[in-house]
Amino acid sequence: MTARIIDGKIIAAELRARVADEVARVQREHQLTPGLAVVLVGSDPASEVYVRSKHKQTQAAGMASFEHKLPADVAESDLLALIAKLNRDPAVHGILVQLPLPKSLNTETIINAIDPAKDVDGLHPNNAGRLAGGSAALSPCTPLGCIILTKSVHASLEGMNAIVIGRSNLVGRPLVQLLLNENATVTIAHSRSRELAQLCARADLVYAAVGKPEMVRGAWIKPGATVIDVGINRLQEADGKTRLVGDVAFQEALNVAGAITPVPGGVGQMTVACLLVNTLRAACAIRGLPAPA
Ligand code: NDP
Repeated sequence: MTARIIDGKIIAAELRARVADEVARVQREHQLTPGLAVVLVGSDPASEVYVRSKHKQTQAAGMASFEHKLPADVAESDLLALIAKLNRDPAVHGILVQLPLPKSLNTETIINAIDPAKDVDGLHPNNAGRLAGGSAALSPCTPLGCIILTKSVHASLEGMNAIVIGRSNLVGRPLVQLLLNENATVTIAHSRSRELAQLCARADLVYAAVGKPEMVRGAWIKPGATVIDVGINRLQEADGKTRLVGDVAFQEALNVAGAITPVPGGVGQMTVACLLVNTLRAACAIRGLPAPA
């Protein structure tokens, strides 16, 4: 049996269309135009691609998009002053500082300076804490995307055995909290975990967020399991071209899993779409409107 491919492109496009409809509604009914400010420090090529894509998709959804590009050697005080200005700006409902930041800047200090109400990346300790406490908050976009993709296969995750491989603040940890909120039973694995293959073999839901090309083998996967591959790894081919692969050995897993996300075309597509969802949610919350559907 070949696994069903979970098409992140289609699911993200549907989500963006729903956000655009809601944006049009809040504009019509409440004269509210959600606004997202993206701050890019330095000129990392991958970050520039992400920021361009965020800008285009924000505008396509009918929201206001504000881009702030700062040199790699910007003083921390200048970056903090920009964040303080964006925190006060009534046209800005979401603030995203593109990571990673240059080493000269303290990421924690910068993230902590963002108004939690505008923290659309969900990384401020207030939002991470509220998520851990099980109460509604702005959740990090990639884990949110993973849950939406899983729910395209399973209407309810209640009682399912899930394994999250990776425990970063950006992906693994918040994903664990979101899965707990869905009443899944969650195993968290990391670089010190033992017998990863056996842990994996028990899981109905496998989330790989490691950053190691094709580490999760087909033989680790329980027949029929749903596999969500967060990894984005760039491999150099013999002909000099680069190829993107995930953290899961896709061809092997395809013959065992019930459903699987491809790389590219899976989780990556969802991240920006969920950023738009968070910006809309933040704008409604700041204006005192009910959370959008
Ligand atoms: P990090 O490097 O921050 O975290 C990696 C995690 O994997 C750590 O918790 C680490 O464990 C664990 N790990 C490393 N080696 C092993 C191993 N051999 N066995 C088990 N666990 C291991 O990465 P991120 O969470 O930021 O990203 C993970 C992947 O997801 C990357 O490929 C990244 O490019 C991709 N990504 C994709 C996004 C998207 O939109 N699709 C968005 C963000 C990330 P320990 O804690 O013990 O060190």
